This record gives sequence, structure tokens and C-alpha cells, in this order.
Amino acid sequence: MIQLKNKEEIDGIRRSGRILAETRSLLTEALREGLTTAELDALAYNYITSQNAIPTFLHYSNFPASLCISVNDEVIHGIPGKRVLLSGDIVSIDLGVTYKGFISDSAFTAPVGRISREAERLMKVTEECLHLGIQEARTGNRIKDVSKAVYNHATRHGYGVVREYCGHGVGKELHEEPQIPNYIHPGPNPRIKPGMVLAIEPMINAGTDDIYVKDDGWTVVTLDGSLSAHFEHTVAVFQDHTEILTTL
Ligand code: MG
Ligand code: MG
Repeated sequence: MIQLKNKEEIDGIRRSGRILAETRSLLTEALREGLTTAELDALAYNYITSQNAIPTFLHYSNFPASLCISVNDEVIHGIPGKRVLLSGDIVSIDLGVTYKGFISDSAFTAPVGRISREAERLMKVTEECLHLGIQEARTGNRIKDVSKAVYNHATRHGYGVVREYCGHGVGKELHEEPQIPNYIHPGPNPRIKPGMVLAIEPMINAGTDDIYVKDDGWTVVTLDGSLSAHFEHTVAVFQDHTEILTTL
């Protein structure tokens, strides 16, 4: 069942989203060559807990860190560790924040030093996919309108759209209904209503859509070794507009 949120609940998710957005900007400022992914993770953990909030991903299904950090051909669910970031890398950072029981979820891909034009284009198109999807996430539309907007924009650029993972409802749990595929899927196609809080999150590969999970049981990687990008926001749907909750 899709849980519609009332005003107090959306206010709570908005407060959680604000802490998340502040963490995002700290990470963006800190990101540079020579840093390890574990150092970025510690930065996020320290800030989130300093705000009396909880990093949602830590211990979720036994995930060992606060952030998922996925570099270059890694799509999602990368585990922070000793890896040193190098100029030319693109880094996808996914994070969740729980504040007073309310959960927000957001991701972005950022460059380290000088990156290739190919990487820049992939990041730009993936972020555009997110915003085109958000534009369709409005009262009266259906979930498939979001999927279609994301899918059409990515494939128009020749990119692969990851199918195994998708967006979702969020707020009281990290993953709630409805599922929001980034491709046109024959499954349920609920109407979008006021009170829905949705995490929309295109995962786009520069090559084919094929992926696999590494031996660590978490890290999802492109099969052809191509670069991958990931952008996500949590949004709340109102009668006459949709608000992004994970931005400053
Ligand atoms: Mg996320
Ligand atoms: Mg998500």
C-alpha cells in the first residue's frame, strides 16, 4: 500500500532532508584528489550525528557505512574504504538521513579534479533525467510518466538505463511503495496523489544497461566497464506543486 503523508509527516521529512542537503554540500566541498572514500564516510557520519540524526544506511541490511560511494564503473552500493580518489574519477555518493523517525534519501555524482568530456556529459544527462522525472511527479500523472521521462532522455543520448534498481516511496521506511522504475515497465502504474513522498533516482550507464554485483555482496558495477552516474532527490507531491525536500 502507498502511504500518503500528512502535513506533520512531510514537515518531518523536510527537516530530515535539510540535514541531508547540508551533508551533501559538506561532501561536495570536501571532495578532492587524495581523499579516501572512508574519510568522506566519516565526514558524513560526524555531521549527521552532530545534528542528532542517524545515517539511515548504517547497518541497514548489515551495510557497514553511512554512505554508499561508487566510483567510475561502480553504479551503486559501493562500500567506503581505503580507496584513494584520483583526478579524473567520478564519484556517486548516496545517503539517507533519519531524523525523529523521518527518512530522506538523495544521491549525486561529482567529479574529482579534471574529468573527461564523456564523464561530464554522462553526469549532466543523468541529472537532467532526474529533473525531467521530478517534473512528471505531479498530482494527476502516473508513476510511468516519471519512468518514461527518465528513460527517454537517457536513451536519446545512447545511454544504458539500469533496470534492477529503482526509485521508491520513502518517509517512514527507507523503501516504501510505489516502486519507480527508470524504464517503461509493464507492472503497476499508480496515479500520483498529494501526500506521496517519492525518491526518484535514475542510474545511468555510459554503455549498456548490464550490471553485476561484486564479490563483496554489495557493489554494483557495469558489466562493460563503462562509467555510471546516479542522481536522486526525495520529493513531496502537493495538489498544485511538487517540492524537492533534499535541497537547501
Ligand atoms: Mg539513495
Ligand atoms: Mg533511494
